[in-house]
Amino acid sequence: MEGYIHSLESFGAADGPGVRFVVFFQGCPLRCLYCHNPDAWNREEGKVWTTEALMTEILKYRSFIGSGGVTFSGGEPLAQPEFLSSLLSACRKQGLHTAVDTSGGVPLSRCREPVEAADLLLLDIKAFSPELCKRLTGRDGEPAWEILRLREELQKPVWIRHVLVPGLTLDDGELEGLAVALKDFSCVQRVELLPFHKLGEYKWKTLGRAYELYDTPAPSSEEVESARRIFMRRGLSCPERG
Ligand code: SF4
Repeated sequence: MEGYIHSLESFGAADGPGVRFVVFFQGCPLRCLYCHNPDAWNREEGKVWTTEALMTEILKYRSFIGSGGVTFSGGEPLAQPEFLSSLLSACRKQGLHTAVDTSGGVPLSRCREPVEAADLLLLDIKAFSPELCKRLTGRDGEPAWEILRLREELQKPVWIRHVLVPGLTLDDGELEGLAVALKDFSCVQRVELLPFHKLGEYKWKTLGRAYELYDTPAPSSEEVESARRIFMRRGLSCPERG
C-alpha cells in the first residue's frame, strides 16, 4: 500500500501519551483560517511512501517509543483511509500503541475502519456551532460528531482538542455549548485546549495566500484558564498544557 506523507517526527511529545513517532499525512479537505500547515493541503505535493518503508523507519525508533507509540497526524490522516488502516494494522502486529490525530473532516462512511482500529483518537472539534465551524474551516463539522458517536459506541478512548481563537471560538456561549455536548460521552478522557498562535503565518505568505487572522492576538493565560474552567465545571478533565 502507498500513500502521501508530508513529514515525519521521531520524538513527538505533544500528540498522545509518552514519546511518539509522528507521521504527518499530506492532504486535507478543510481550510482552517489558522492552519499552521497550509503546505499540507494538497495531497499530490506529498512524498509517496509505502507501508513497508514507513514501518522500517518507525521501527528504527522502537526502543524510544516503546512506552509511547505512533501518532498519525496531518494534514488529515483519515483522508487516506486504506493507507492509514494498513499502517494501523502493521503497528498492531508490532505491539505499538496507535493514535490518530484527526479533524474529522471526512465522512464516517469513508473512514470507518481506521476510526474503529485506532487505540486512541485525538479529535479536533473545530467549533461547536455548525455556522462558526463553516466560517472557520469551510465545512459544518458534522463528520467529527459522527466519528465521536462511533467511538462512544465502541467505548474506545478519545482526547478532544479545541483551538481557542479570540473573536471566534474563544466565546463563553460556544465553549459552554461544546462542554455540555461532550459531557455525556464517556469515551472522552480529556479535553485539550490549544491557544491560537501564528507560527504558521509565514507559510501562508510563502504560498501567496491571504492570512485572515493577521490581527488576531493569542489568547491571554487568564482567558485560557477561564475556558478550562467551563469544561471542568461540566466534569470534563481539561489539563493545563505545559
Ligand atoms: S484540519 Fe489541520 S491541516 Fe487541515 S486545514 Fe485545518 S489546521 Fe490545517
